[in-house]
Amino acid sequence: MSRPWLAARWNGFGTSIFTEMTDLARARGAVNLAQGFPDFLGPARVLDALAAQVATSHHQYAPGNGEPRLRAGVARLVAASTGVTYDPGDEVTITTGATEALYSAVQAVVNPGDRVVVLEPTYDSYPQAIANAGGVVVPIRLHAPDTAEGNGAWTLDEAALDAAVAAGFRLLILNTPHNPTGKVFSPAELARLADAVIAADAIALCDEVYEALVYDDARHASLAAQPGMRDRVIRVSSAAKTFGFTGFKIGWATAGAELTAALRLVHQATVFSTSPILQGAVADALDDEPWLAGYLAETRATYQAKRDLLRGALEAAGFTVPTVRGTYFVMARYAADPDPGDVAYARGLVDRCGVAAIPPSVFYATPPARLPWLRFAFCKRDETLARAAALLRGELAPTAPAP
Ligand code: PMP
Ligand code: GLN
Repeated sequence: MSRPWLAARWNGFGTSIFTEMTDLARARGAVNLAQGFPDFLGPARVLDALAAQVATSHHQYAPGNGEPRLRAGVARLVAASTGVTYDPGDEVTITTGATEALYSAVQAVVNPGDRVVVLEPTYDSYPQAIANAGGVVVPIRLHAPDTAEGNGAWTLDEAALDAAVAAGFRLLILNTPHNPTGKVFSPAELARLADAVIAADAIALCDEVYEALVYDDARHASLAAQPGMRDRVIRVSSAAKTFGFTGFKIGWATAGAELTAALRLVHQATVFSTSPILQGAVADALDDEPWLAGYLAETRATYQAKRDLLRGALEAAGFTVPTVRGTYFVMARYAADPDPGDVAYARGLVDRCGVAAIPPSVFYATPPARLPWLRFAFCKRDETLARAAALLRGELAPTAPAP
Protein backbone atom coordinates (compact mmCIF):
# COMPACT_ATOMS: atom_id res chain seq x y z
CA MET A 1 0.00 0.00 0.00
CA SER A 2 1.33 3.48 -0.79
CA ARG A 3 1.83 5.64 2.27
CA PRO A 4 1.81 9.26 1.05
CA TRP A 5 1.30 10.72 4.52
CA LEU A 6 3.99 8.72 6.30
CA ALA A 7 6.80 10.78 7.80
CA ALA A 8 10.03 10.00 5.96
CA ARG A 9 11.80 8.61 9.03
CA TRP A 10 9.33 5.68 9.05
CA ASN A 11 9.77 4.81 5.37
CA GLY A 12 12.01 1.84 6.02
CA PHE A 13 9.42 -0.03 8.11
CA GLY A 14 6.33 -2.12 7.47
CA THR A 15 4.11 -4.53 9.38
CA SER A 16 6.16 -6.51 11.91
CA ILE A 17 7.23 -10.05 11.01
CA PHE A 18 5.53 -11.24 14.21
CA THR A 19 2.15 -9.95 13.05
CA GLU A 20 2.76 -11.23 9.53
CA MET A 21 3.63 -14.79 10.56
CA THR A 22 0.88 -14.98 13.19
CA ASP A 23 -1.68 -13.86 10.59
CA LEU A 24 -0.31 -16.43 8.12
CA ALA A 25 -0.43 -19.19 10.74
CA ARG A 26 -4.05 -18.29 11.57
CA ALA A 27 -5.08 -18.18 7.92
CA ARG A 28 -3.52 -21.60 7.24
CA GLY A 29 -4.43 -23.28 10.52
CA ALA A 30 -0.68 -23.76 11.13
CA VAL A 31 0.94 -24.29 14.55
CA ASN A 32 2.30 -20.87 15.47
CA LEU A 33 5.86 -21.27 16.73
CA ALA A 34 6.61 -17.86 15.22
CA GLN A 35 5.43 -15.12 17.59
CA GLY A 36 6.77 -15.46 21.11
CA PHE A 37 3.72 -15.67 23.36
CA PRO A 38 2.60 -18.55 25.59
CA ASP A 39 -0.49 -20.48 24.43
CA PHE A 40 -1.23 -21.30 28.09
CA LEU A 41 -2.28 -19.15 31.03
CA GLY A 42 0.29 -17.63 33.36
CA PRO A 43 0.16 -18.30 37.14
CA ALA A 44 -3.21 -18.34 38.92
CA ARG A 45 -1.57 -16.37 41.77
CA VAL A 46 -1.28 -13.38 39.44
CA LEU A 47 -4.76 -13.78 37.95
CA ASP A 48 -6.27 -13.95 41.46
CA ALA A 49 -4.38 -10.78 42.38
CA LEU A 50 -5.69 -9.12 39.23
CA ALA A 51 -9.28 -10.08 40.06
CA ALA A 52 -8.86 -8.61 43.56
CA GLN A 53 -7.39 -5.43 42.07
CA VAL A 54 -10.54 -4.92 40.00
CA ALA A 55 -12.47 -4.56 43.25
CA THR A 56 -9.90 -2.59 45.24
CA SER A 57 -7.89 -0.41 42.84
CA HIS A 58 -8.53 3.33 42.53
CA HIS A 59 -9.01 2.96 38.74
CA GLN A 60 -7.76 6.49 38.07
CA TYR A 61 -4.49 7.65 36.55
CA ALA A 62 -1.65 5.90 38.28
CA PRO A 63 1.31 8.06 39.30
CA GLY A 64 3.15 8.72 36.04
CA ASN A 65 6.37 7.03 37.09
CA GLY A 66 4.54 4.01 38.45
CA GLU A 67 2.73 2.86 41.59
CA PRO A 68 5.20 3.15 44.51
CA ARG A 69 4.57 -0.44 45.67
CA LEU A 70 5.41 -1.84 42.23
CA ARG A 71 8.52 0.35 41.97
CA ALA A 72 9.70 -1.07 45.30
CA GLY A 73 8.97 -4.64 44.15
CA VAL A 74 10.82 -4.06 40.88
CA ALA A 75 13.85 -2.68 42.74
CA ARG A 76 13.94 -5.91 44.82
CA LEU A 77 13.51 -8.13 41.74
CA VAL A 78 16.24 -6.31 39.82
CA ALA A 79 18.62 -6.46 42.79
CA ALA A 80 18.03 -10.23 43.05
CA SER A 81 18.50 -10.74 39.31
CA THR A 82 21.50 -8.46 38.70
CA GLY A 83 23.06 -7.52 42.06
CA VAL A 84 22.52 -3.84 41.22
CA THR A 85 20.42 -1.74 43.59
CA TYR A 86 18.16 1.10 42.46
CA ASP A 87 16.23 3.64 44.50
CA PRO A 88 12.50 3.11 43.83
CA GLY A 89 11.97 6.88 44.24
CA ASP A 90 14.08 8.26 41.43
CA GLU A 91 15.68 5.28 39.70
CA VAL A 92 12.73 2.99 38.79
CA THR A 93 10.03 3.82 36.20
CA ILE A 94 7.03 1.66 35.31
CA THR A 95 6.25 1.64 31.58
CA THR A 96 3.73 0.15 29.16
CA GLY A 97 5.76 -2.98 28.55
CA ALA A 98 9.44 -3.22 27.80
CA THR A 99 8.68 -1.92 24.30
CA GLU A 100 7.72 1.49 25.67
CA ALA A 101 10.70 1.57 28.02
CA LEU A 102 13.08 0.84 25.13
CA TYR A 103 11.38 3.40 22.90
CA SER A 104 11.35 6.10 25.58
CA ALA A 105 14.98 5.42 26.49
CA VAL A 106 16.14 5.81 22.90
CA GLN A 107 14.12 9.01 22.34
CA ALA A 108 15.48 10.37 25.64
CA VAL A 109 19.19 10.00 24.89
CA VAL A 110 19.71 9.87 21.10
CA ASN A 111 20.19 13.10 19.12
CA PRO A 112 19.83 13.25 15.33
CA GLY A 113 23.00 11.82 13.79
CA ASP A 114 24.10 9.96 16.93
CA ARG A 115 25.54 6.52 16.30
CA VAL A 116 23.77 3.63 18.04
CA VAL A 117 25.40 0.20 18.16
CA VAL A 118 23.12 -2.84 17.92
CA LEU A 119 24.13 -6.49 17.83
CA GLU A 120 22.65 -8.36 14.87
CA PRO A 121 20.39 -10.29 14.66
CA THR A 122 18.65 -7.49 16.55
CA TYR A 123 15.12 -7.24 17.97
CA ASP A 124 12.99 -5.29 15.50
CA SER A 125 11.82 -2.50 17.77
CA TYR A 126 15.35 -1.09 18.26
CA PRO A 127 15.91 0.16 14.68
CA GLN A 128 12.41 1.66 14.70
CA ALA A 129 13.09 3.60 17.89
CA ILE A 130 16.50 4.72 16.62
CA ALA A 131 15.01 5.89 13.30
CA ASN A 132 12.40 7.97 15.10
CA ALA A 133 15.14 9.67 17.12
CA GLY A 134 17.14 10.37 13.94
CA GLY A 135 20.00 8.14 15.12
CA VAL A 136 22.26 6.08 12.88
CA VAL A 137 22.22 2.30 13.36
CA VAL A 138 25.71 0.81 13.65
CA PRO A 139 25.21 -2.97 13.32
CA ILE A 140 27.70 -5.41 14.77
CA ARG A 141 26.98 -8.96 13.70
CA LEU A 142 27.13 -11.96 15.93
CA HIS A 143 29.06 -14.63 14.03
CA ALA A 144 26.67 -17.50 13.23
CA PRO A 145 27.39 -20.98 14.62
CA ASP A 146 27.89 -22.40 11.11
CA THR A 147 30.71 -19.97 10.28
CA ALA A 148 34.40 -20.47 11.01
CA GLU A 149 34.37 -17.51 13.44
CA GLY A 150 31.21 -18.67 15.20
CA ASN A 151 32.43 -22.26 15.51
CA GLY A 152 29.22 -23.72 16.93
CA ALA A 153 27.84 -20.68 18.76
CA TRP A 154 26.63 -17.12 18.16
CA THR A 155 29.69 -15.05 19.05
CA LEU A 156 30.49 -11.37 19.29
CA ASP A 157 32.50 -9.85 16.41
CA GLU A 158 35.15 -8.18 18.56
CA ALA A 159 36.92 -6.53 15.61
CA ALA A 160 33.66 -4.80 14.66
CA LEU A 161 33.23 -3.71 18.28
CA ASP A 162 36.73 -2.18 18.27
CA ALA A 163 35.92 -0.38 15.01
CA ALA A 164 32.72 1.03 16.54
CA VAL A 165 34.68 2.35 19.52
CA ALA A 166 37.25 3.93 17.20
CA ALA A 167 34.47 5.67 15.21
CA GLY A 168 32.62 6.67 18.41
CA PHE A 169 29.02 6.02 19.43
CA ARG A 170 26.44 7.43 21.81
CA LEU A 171 24.50 4.32 22.78
CA LEU A 172 24.92 0.54 22.67
CA ILE A 173 21.83 -1.68 22.89
CA LEU A 174 22.41 -5.11 24.38
CA ASN A 175 19.81 -7.84 24.71
CA THR A 176 20.76 -10.74 27.01
CA PRO A 177 19.40 -13.42 27.11
CA HIS A 178 19.24 -12.73 23.39
CA ASN A 179 16.23 -12.87 21.10
CA PRO A 180 16.36 -14.52 18.53
CA THR A 181 19.50 -16.63 19.13
CA GLY A 182 18.92 -17.73 22.74
CA LYS A 183 22.47 -16.63 23.56
CA VAL A 184 23.29 -15.71 27.16
CA PHE A 185 26.23 -13.30 27.10
CA SER A 186 29.13 -14.56 29.21
CA PRO A 187 30.85 -12.51 31.94
CA ALA A 188 33.90 -12.14 29.65
CA GLU A 189 31.73 -10.76 26.82
CA LEU A 190 29.99 -8.39 29.20
CA ALA A 191 33.37 -7.14 30.43
CA ARG A 192 34.43 -6.58 26.80
CA LEU A 193 31.20 -4.66 26.05
CA ALA A 194 31.55 -2.58 29.23
CA ASP A 195 35.11 -1.62 28.22
CA ALA A 196 33.81 -0.55 24.80
CA VAL A 197 31.02 1.60 26.26
CA ILE A 198 33.40 3.27 28.71
CA ALA A 199 36.09 3.78 26.04
CA ALA A 200 33.50 5.50 23.81
CA ASP A 201 32.22 7.52 26.82
CA ALA A 202 28.80 6.20 25.81
CA ILE A 203 25.78 4.70 27.55
CA ALA A 204 24.07 1.32 27.22
CA LEU A 205 20.45 0.26 26.97
CA CYS A 206 20.11 -3.26 28.34
CA ASP A 207 17.08 -5.29 27.35
CA GLU A 208 16.86 -8.11 29.88
CA VAL A 209 13.25 -9.22 29.41
CA TYR A 210 14.31 -12.91 29.35
CA GLU A 211 16.32 -12.64 32.60
CA ALA A 212 14.24 -15.33 34.34
CA LEU A 213 14.51 -17.83 31.47
CA VAL A 214 18.02 -19.29 31.60
CA TYR A 215 18.84 -23.00 31.44
CA ASP A 216 21.40 -25.64 32.34
CA ASP A 217 24.25 -23.95 34.20
CA ALA A 218 23.71 -20.53 32.54
CA ARG A 219 23.28 -17.55 34.83
CA HIS A 220 21.82 -14.21 33.85
CA ALA A 221 24.23 -11.31 34.31
CA SER A 222 23.67 -7.64 33.56
CA LEU A 223 26.01 -5.17 31.90
CA ALA A 224 24.87 -2.78 34.65
CA ALA A 225 26.78 -4.91 37.19
CA GLN A 226 30.12 -4.47 35.40
CA PRO A 227 32.56 -2.09 37.14
CA GLY A 228 31.93 1.53 36.20
CA MET A 229 28.70 0.75 34.35
CA ARG A 230 25.86 1.30 36.82
CA ASP A 231 25.32 4.95 35.94
CA ARG A 232 25.87 4.36 32.21
CA VAL A 233 23.04 1.83 31.84
CA ILE A 234 19.30 2.02 31.35
CA ARG A 235 18.16 -1.47 32.18
CA VAL A 236 14.77 -2.70 30.91
CA SER A 237 12.59 -5.70 31.72
CA SER A 238 8.91 -6.53 32.00
CA ALA A 239 6.26 -8.84 33.40
CA ALA A 240 5.59 -10.32 29.95
CA LYS A 241 8.11 -13.17 29.87
CA THR A 242 8.70 -13.64 33.60
CA PHE A 243 4.99 -14.18 34.31
CA GLY A 244 3.88 -15.39 30.88
CA PHE A 245 1.34 -12.61 30.37
CA THR A 246 2.45 -10.76 27.25
CA GLY A 247 -0.91 -8.96 27.22
CA PHE A 248 -0.27 -7.16 30.52
CA LYS A 249 2.17 -4.69 28.98
CA ILE A 250 3.71 -3.83 32.34
CA GLY A 251 7.40 -3.07 31.97
CA TRP A 252 10.08 -1.14 33.79
CA ALA A 253 13.28 0.82 33.32
CA THR A 254 15.89 1.09 36.06
CA ALA A 255 18.78 3.55 35.78
CA GLY A 256 20.77 6.08 37.75
CA ALA A 257 18.82 9.23 38.64
CA GLU A 258 20.13 11.34 35.72
CA LEU A 259 19.26 8.79 33.04
CA THR A 260 15.95 8.09 34.78
CA ALA A 261 15.02 11.78 34.73
CA ALA A 262 15.67 11.85 30.96
CA LEU A 263 13.62 8.74 30.29
CA ARG A 264 10.72 9.91 32.47
CA LEU A 265 10.31 13.02 30.37
CA VAL A 266 9.65 10.94 27.22
CA HIS A 267 7.52 8.43 29.14
CA GLN A 268 5.40 11.34 30.40
CA ALA A 269 4.91 12.61 26.84
CA THR A 270 4.08 9.24 25.28
CA VAL A 271 1.88 7.25 27.68
CA PHE A 272 1.97 9.33 30.89
CA SER A 273 0.91 6.43 33.10
CA THR A 274 0.09 2.72 33.01
CA SER A 275 -2.93 0.69 34.19
CA PRO A 276 -3.14 0.68 38.01
CA ILE A 277 -4.89 -2.69 38.23
CA LEU A 278 -2.19 -4.45 36.23
CA GLN A 279 0.52 -2.69 38.24
CA GLY A 280 -1.22 -3.77 41.44
CA ALA A 281 -1.42 -7.40 40.35
CA VAL A 282 2.28 -7.53 39.44
CA ALA A 283 3.16 -5.77 42.72
CA ASP A 284 1.17 -8.40 44.66
CA ALA A 285 3.12 -11.18 42.93
CA LEU A 286 6.47 -9.51 43.62
CA ASP A 287 5.54 -8.87 47.28
CA ASP A 288 4.76 -12.57 47.81
CA GLU A 289 8.43 -13.53 47.96
CA PRO A 290 8.09 -17.23 48.94
CA TRP A 291 5.61 -17.77 46.10
CA LEU A 292 7.84 -15.85 43.69
CA ALA A 293 10.94 -17.92 44.49
CA GLY A 294 9.04 -21.18 43.90
CA TYR A 295 7.39 -19.87 40.75
CA LEU A 296 10.67 -18.71 39.18
CA ALA A 297 12.41 -22.05 39.85
CA GLU A 298 9.46 -24.02 38.49
CA THR A 299 9.19 -21.81 35.40
CA ARG A 300 12.85 -22.34 34.53
CA ALA A 301 12.45 -26.11 34.82
CA THR A 302 9.23 -26.13 32.78
CA TYR A 303 10.73 -24.06 29.96
CA GLN A 304 13.94 -26.07 29.95
CA ALA A 305 11.88 -29.24 29.38
CA LYS A 306 9.99 -27.48 26.56
CA ARG A 307 13.28 -26.42 25.01
CA ASP A 308 14.43 -30.04 25.00
CA LEU A 309 11.12 -31.19 23.52
CA LEU A 310 11.35 -28.72 20.65
CA ARG A 311 15.03 -29.39 20.05
CA GLY A 312 14.28 -33.13 19.73
CA ALA A 313 11.41 -32.43 17.34
CA LEU A 314 13.52 -30.18 15.12
CA GLU A 315 16.47 -32.57 15.07
CA ALA A 316 14.16 -35.44 14.14
CA ALA A 317 12.95 -33.29 11.22
CA GLY A 318 16.50 -32.70 9.96
CA PHE A 319 17.35 -29.33 11.51
CA THR A 320 20.66 -28.65 13.28
CA VAL A 321 19.98 -27.11 16.66
CA PRO A 322 22.81 -25.59 18.71
CA THR A 323 22.01 -25.54 22.45
CA VAL A 324 20.22 -22.41 23.58
CA ARG A 325 20.86 -21.30 27.14
CA GLY A 326 18.16 -18.62 27.51
CA THR A 327 14.90 -17.05 26.20
CA TYR A 328 12.06 -19.20 24.86
CA PHE A 329 13.40 -19.45 21.33
CA VAL A 330 15.63 -21.85 19.47
CA MET A 331 17.44 -20.98 16.28
CA ALA A 332 17.59 -24.03 14.06
CA ARG A 333 19.60 -24.45 10.85
CA TYR A 334 17.74 -25.96 7.92
CA ALA A 335 19.38 -28.03 5.21
CA ALA A 336 18.18 -27.07 1.74
CA ASP A 337 20.13 -27.16 -1.50
CA PRO A 338 19.63 -24.84 -3.27
CA ASP A 339 18.79 -22.54 -0.35
CA PRO A 340 15.65 -20.56 -1.20
CA GLY A 341 16.48 -18.03 1.55
CA ASP A 342 15.03 -18.01 5.06
CA VAL A 343 11.89 -16.01 4.21
CA ALA A 344 10.89 -18.39 1.40
CA TYR A 345 11.86 -21.40 3.54
CA ALA A 346 9.65 -20.14 6.40
CA ARG A 347 6.71 -19.64 4.04
CA GLY A 348 7.33 -23.07 2.50
CA LEU A 349 7.34 -24.66 5.96
CA VAL A 350 3.86 -23.29 6.62
CA ASP A 351 2.60 -24.70 3.29
CA ARG A 352 4.43 -28.02 3.47
CA CYS A 353 4.23 -28.85 7.18
CA GLY A 354 1.76 -26.44 8.78
CA VAL A 355 4.33 -24.97 11.20
CA ALA A 356 5.14 -21.24 11.37
CA ALA A 357 8.57 -19.88 12.38
CA ILE A 358 10.39 -16.55 12.09
CA PRO A 359 12.97 -15.98 9.33
CA PRO A 360 15.84 -14.18 11.08
CA SER A 361 16.97 -12.07 8.10
CA VAL A 362 14.34 -9.54 9.23
CA PHE A 363 16.60 -8.86 12.23
CA TYR A 364 19.42 -7.43 10.04
CA ALA A 365 19.88 -4.03 8.38
CA THR A 366 21.52 -5.89 5.48
CA PRO A 367 21.11 -9.65 5.88
CA PRO A 368 24.10 -11.94 5.34
CA ALA A 369 24.20 -13.57 1.87
CA ARG A 370 23.30 -16.92 3.42
CA LEU A 371 21.30 -17.29 6.60
CA PRO A 372 19.81 -20.80 6.60
CA TRP A 373 18.23 -20.47 10.04
CA LEU A 374 14.71 -20.19 11.46
CA ARG A 375 13.58 -19.10 14.92
CA PHE A 376 11.05 -21.34 16.69
CA ALA A 377 9.31 -20.42 19.97
CA PHE A 378 8.88 -23.08 22.66
CA CYS A 379 6.65 -21.08 25.03
CA LYS A 380 3.84 -23.41 24.00
CA ARG A 381 1.85 -26.26 25.59
CA ASP A 382 3.53 -29.66 25.37
CA GLU A 383 0.58 -30.78 23.18
CA THR A 384 1.30 -27.90 20.79
CA LEU A 385 4.97 -28.85 20.63
CA ALA A 386 4.04 -32.53 20.10
CA ARG A 387 1.69 -31.55 17.26
CA ALA A 388 4.43 -29.41 15.69
CA ALA A 389 6.81 -32.37 16.01
CA ALA A 390 4.40 -34.70 14.18
CA LEU A 391 3.78 -32.09 11.47
CA LEU A 392 7.50 -31.48 10.97
CA ARG A 393 8.14 -35.24 10.65
CA GLY A 394 5.35 -35.43 8.06
CA GLU A 395 3.25 -37.75 10.24
CA LEU A 396 0.32 -35.31 10.20
CA ALA A 397 -1.01 -33.51 7.16
CA PRO A 398 -1.09 -29.70 7.44
CA THR A 399 -4.59 -28.23 7.61
CA ALA A 400 -5.76 -27.33 4.10
CA PRO A 401 -5.59 -23.60 3.34
CA ALA A 402 -8.89 -21.73 3.62
CA PRO A 403 -10.55 -21.48 0.17
N1 PMP B 1 12.58 -7.02 23.98
C1 PMP B 1 12.69 -8.26 23.48
C2 PMP B 1 14.02 -8.82 23.16
C3 PMP B 1 11.53 -9.02 23.26
O1 PMP B 1 11.62 -10.24 22.75
C4 PMP B 1 10.28 -8.47 23.57
C5 PMP B 1 9.11 -9.27 23.32
N2 PMP B 1 8.16 -9.42 23.36
C6 PMP B 1 10.22 -7.16 24.09
C7 PMP B 1 11.40 -6.48 24.27
C8 PMP B 1 8.94 -6.48 24.40
O2 PMP B 1 8.49 -6.72 25.69
P1 PMP B 1 7.03 -6.24 26.16
O3 PMP B 1 6.08 -7.26 25.65
O4 PMP B 1 7.12 -6.18 27.63
O5 PMP B 1 6.79 -4.90 25.55
N1 GLN C 1 8.87 -10.47 21.38
C1 GLN C 1 7.99 -11.31 20.64
C2 GLN C 1 8.82 -12.20 19.75
O1 GLN C 1 10.01 -11.99 19.59
C3 GLN C 1 7.04 -10.55 19.76
C4 GLN C 1 6.55 -9.27 20.25
C5 GLN C 1 5.69 -8.60 19.25
O2 GLN C 1 4.94 -9.25 18.55
N2 GLN C 1 5.85 -7.32 19.14
O3 GLN C 1 8.29 -13.11 19.18
